[in-house]
Amino acid sequence: MRIAKPDRRVWLFTLALAAAGGVLWWRGPTLPTLSSGLWWPVLALLFCLTERFVVNLPIGRENHSVAFGEAPLLLGLLFVSPPQLLAAALSGVGVALALLFRASLIKLAFNLALWFLQVSTGIVVFHALLTGLGVEDDPLSPLGWLAALLAMETINILSSLSVTTVISLREGVWSRQSLRSALTAGAINTVVVTDLALLTALILRREPTALALLAVLGLLSFGLYHGYQVQRLRYGRLELLYEFTRSVDQALQDESVLETVLREARGLLRARRADVLLVGADGSYRSLGGTCSPTADWWQPAYEGKILRLPRGAADERAEALRAEGHVDGLAAPLRDGGQICGVLVVTDRVDDVSTFDGEDAKLFQALAGHASVALANSGLVERVRAAAEETEHLSRHDPLTGLPNRLDFQQRLERRLSATGSAAVLLMDVDRFKEVNDTLGHDVGDQLLQQVGQRLRRLEHDETVVARLGGDEFAVLLEGDEIHIEGMVQRVSRDFARPFDLGEVELDVTASIGIAMAPRDGVSAALLLRRAEVAMYDAKHRLTGVAHYSSERDPYSARRLSLISDLARALEEQALELHFQPQAEPGTGRVTGAEALLRWRHPVWGHVPPDEFIPLAEHTGLIRPLTRFVLETAVRQCAAWRDAGTPVTVSVNVSMRNLLEVELADVVARMLVQANLPARLLKLEVTESAIVSDPERAMRAIERIVDLGLLVSVDDFGTGYSSLTRLRNLPVHEVKIDRTFVRNLADSTDDLAIVRAVISLGHDLGLHVVAEGVEDEPAWRILEELECDLVQGYLLARPMPAADMTGWLAEHFAGLATRLRQETGDAPAARGDRPPGPRSIETRRSGGKGV
Ligand code: C2E
Ligand code: CA
Ligand code: CA
Repeated sequence: MRIAKPDRRVWLFTLALAAAGGVLWWRGPTLPTLSSGLWWPVLALLFCLTERFVVNLPIGRENHSVAFGEAPLLLGLLFVSPPQLLAAALSGVGVALALLFRASLIKLAFNLALWFLQVSTGIVVFHALLTGLGVEDDPLSPLGWLAALLAMETINILSSLSVTTVISLREGVWSRQSLRSALTAGAINTVVVTDLALLTALILRREPTALALLAVLGLLSFGLYHGYQVQRLRYGRLELLYEFTRSVDQALQDESVLETVLREARGLLRARRADVLLVGADGSYRSLGGTCSPTADWWQPAYEGKILRLPRGAADERAEALRAEGHVDGLAAPLRDGGQICGVLVVTDRVDDVSTFDGEDAKLFQALAGHASVALANSGLVERVRAAAEETEHLSRHDPLTGLPNRLDFQQRLERRLSATGSAAVLLMDVDRFKEVNDTLGHDVGDQLLQQVGQRLRRLEHDETVVARLGGDEFAVLLEGDEIHIEGMVQRVSRDFARPFDLGEVELDVTASIGIAMAPRDGVSAALLLRRAEVAMYDAKHRLTGVAHYSSERDPYSARRLSLISDLARALEEQALELHFQPQAEPGTGRVTGAEALLRWRHPVWGHVPPDEFIPLAEHTGLIRPLTRFVLETAVRQCAAWRDAGTPVTVSVNVSMRNLLEVELADVVARMLVQANLPARLLKLEVTESAIVSDPERAMRAIERIVDLGLLVSVDDFGTGYSSLTRLRNLPVHEVKIDRTFVRNLADSTDDLAIVRAVISLGHDLGLHVVAEGVEDEPAWRILEELECDLVQGYLLARPMPAADMTGWLAEHFAGLATRLRQETGDAPAARGDRPPGPRSIETRRSGGKGV
């Protein structure tokens, strides 16, 4: 075992004391003892008690402790034999130190050695003085008193010297000042204690029962002393605190409050380190003193309002954590600001290695923390730290341009909402053509526009509704995940965007595309929902629908979609795509005059993949070109076959805008028609209304090329593209197909009925053929017949079927119809003419149209 250097010196000194004691003991005289009933164990008890209780008395500005150890020593010198005295002293002091104070071994050894020396010295000096003064036979005579006093003063000098020496050995500095005060205080102490001991001795000698009187006096004094002590401690603490507040107040003026609080806390609690930890708006701590880790958790209970005391050697988790931080002991107390806990005051590491923070220290510390709270709050420090924290916090979570929460904040709020309720909806909106605003009007105007958009959206904010700017021209709204809510919010956003934006010199009409994703339907994580809302937003932009709900089928990132894209090309090469046909008939006669070609794809893994899903994929990837070639070729071949079989029908083929924009499409179709020897008027191309609306100029030119070939052109899905029939006046088209969503509930919905009636009558006014698709029941059919709709198509007549089935179906139908018509009218079907409407010039339609 290695012994630290200062300790080694103390041990040596202790040995020296013991050796000196031994020499004196061995050479010392034998004192004559007075007869009394003092039994040495009682003396031992007295030693123990006097070691245990020290009376503290303030004398002048200093605090002095009065030790009574010399009283049993003197009694022992008078009444018991030296060995008994030594035994009593060592056992009494030893028990007090070892058991009551749990002193360290070195401290115990030093004190025992010192007492050994004091006892030996006492015997030698007292004996010498008694002999010198000639009162060795009567030590309780007045001259004996003098001898006793001088002997005790010698002991006092010896003990003061020894204690000062041992302290200086430990600390490495010799303090003459402390020696002087130890000597003077000890001298007075000795007079009092000797006096008391002599009084006791006289009573013991003359009238031992009178000791009871002394005991009463003693108890009374003790009671008074105790009361006084409590008062004094209180007063002392007040005084310390007063000192503390005074220096802190002083510091308030020169803005060094924090330093002063830390310095005073260290001084008052005799701690090596002190720190203030303040809690910021984000709940994290900042150490202002820099001596305590803001993440340590030993002081956490203080943040919950407790006073925490971790004395040296404490054995619990907190104490472990404290030691892990490199501290020995510590105190922590809450700091409050306006009743709220705003931080923690901490002191650690008692300066001397012997004592530690006790209950009294904790009380003082608590009061100190109270004053420190007030001082720190007054200094504005708490405010400043908090404001700085909030500032950085705010900056990191908000967009500086609009002041709205940013993507990070939005995503975290969304996460919290999801983990709390599991349901939420995200509306992601993107300002349409924002880039153009930026490019043509400049970034300042662009910023202004974004600010105004932010302001308008901000009005949507509500308890459950959060508006954020995700970046660029993208904004997001977080709201409750139910359809009605979403619907209402979309309407409010549209209304907000309906008014033009005033950007100083210009007024701008701005539209936005909105994508919607809902939890749990579209995903349960914030990141996924945001991405899917974005996918939906691009979808809305792309399809010009303004608003779109997320759909995995149109999600370019969904696994299914990626697999479909790669498989579609292979399916085309391997001819795994099949063309089905759905017949169209005149509602009045039931005569079948046409069929629509509809693609079918049976995927090896996914099974039947609807064309609504794979056609957009083909459009995105360019596969739509070979795909449409395949459809056209098959349709033309099939159309010719049915004509040859005596069941002639017009075949309609759906073409995408991308197909129309191919310059060579007309040539390709022309070649096919020649090859199949098919008249152009038996082939009809269906173009969706939305495709035409998205680029009317180019659509017009493309359609003209087709029409020039003699082909028929139909506007598909009419009613869904938000265009009016008047727009169609400028296009050389022959037909409109009322979208199936209006036809489905025709018999039940007066709205739908009104729309269908208007489209049919206006279409006819414009000289257009009108087709209703999606006819599923007889009432609808009858209404369409009444409204003089030209053609109907739908499950009621037949579902789309493979070409071979269609061949059979047509044969049966033509035969059946011919018989029926012959029975009813005696007329042949051909007599009514198989004449699809021919292309008219724009002029004729203009003259025929009344305008819408
Ligand atoms: P569309 O052009 O509007 O085709 C009509 C759709 O309505 C077909 O769906 C058809 O099966 C369905 N339908 C017919 N009668 C009824 C009915 O009574 N009730 C209901 N609920 N539905 C009926 P399908 O085959 O799923 O095709 C969907 C869309 O895919 C088509 O809509 C068309 O836009 C596109 N598409 C299909 N084949 C092709 C193609 O070869 N080329 C291109 N470019 N697009 C195609
Ligand atoms: Ca169609
Ligand atoms: Ca359609």
